[in-house]
Amino acid sequence: MLTSVLSLLALGFIASVVLSVASRVFYVEEDPRVEAVSEALPGANCGGCGFAGCDAYAAAVIQDPSVSAGLCCAGGPEVSARVAELAGKAAGSADPQISFRRCVKDEGKVKKKYEYQGLDSCAASAQLEDGPDACKYSCLGFGDCVKVCNFNAMYLENGLVQIDPDKCVACGACVGVCPNKILEMIPRRARVQVFCSTLDKMKDVMNVCEAGCINCGKCVKKCPAQAISNAEGNIRIDHAACLAYGPECEEACVDACPRSILRLMCHNSVTLKAEAAAAAAAAAPEQQPQANA
Ligand code: SF4
Ligand code: SF4
Repeated sequence: MLTSVLSLLALGFIASVVLSVASRVFYVEEDPRVEAVSEALPGANCGGCGFAGCDAYAAAVIQDPSVSAGLCCAGGPEVSARVAELAGKAAGSADPQISFRRCVKDEGKVKKKYEYQGLDSCAASAQLEDGPDACKYSCLGFGDCVKVCNFNAMYLENGLVQIDPDKCVACGACVGVCPNKILEMIPRRARVQVFCSTLDKMKDVMNVCEAGCINCGKCVKKCPAQAISNAEGNIRIDHAACLAYGPECEEACVDACPRSILRLMCHNSVTLKAEAAAAAAAAAPEQQPQANA
């Protein structure tokens, strides 16, 4: 008995010595900037940066030269500037984004296939014939996106999810859980947007929804900036090209849409026009001497 106890004690002592030596030999000194970046981040652990949480992003941005300092959407430009300073990198210049719901089924009077009586979940209802709505690109309205939003930026109203622009930090969690893929990130400055995501053909859309995009392509033809495409049956807007072209087009795509489903984001359009007018006014005095020369 005594021999067994002494043997165990000896084994324990040897193991502790081996571990102690190993911890000294293999010790990797942690860069103190990782902790500083962790402290600068908001601690939301939302995953919007593409990493498992704030600590994982902090380690990556310090250790990997290819990881940008501007990935923390929850922290915004101020946090990005601080992270850039700590990491010795350029501050990110990404265009701020916001979640956008591409469906207005309340206006479309979408037909029902059946009355759903299952779990209070979009994912569960989508398992049964793509959900109870005749359009499989509609907002199912059970709020799976609302449940995963850590920033209380989403809520349901009359069976449609709504997004609070003051609270959305564009972490993208909602986009990932929507079974019908109707949520997407768009630039906050987006001037126009299609409020429908259907991939169905014209006749099928007209049969189920009074508002849906019928993919007639009139907007594509009218856009002088070639900023609209209908690849794979879905109207897509290249917001960078749209914004770069400027207000001269007078949003011809919006007027061309026979279903009024391609719409103006009014506030952004007004801002863009004001910016263009200010830029023109600022440039005018420089042009004056040339004209007189
Ligand atoms: S947007 Fe998608 S996840 Fe959110 S309520 Fe609608 S169907 Fe459900
Ligand atoms: S056709 Fe478009 S607007 Fe109508 S329910 Fe389907 S996705 Fe929504």
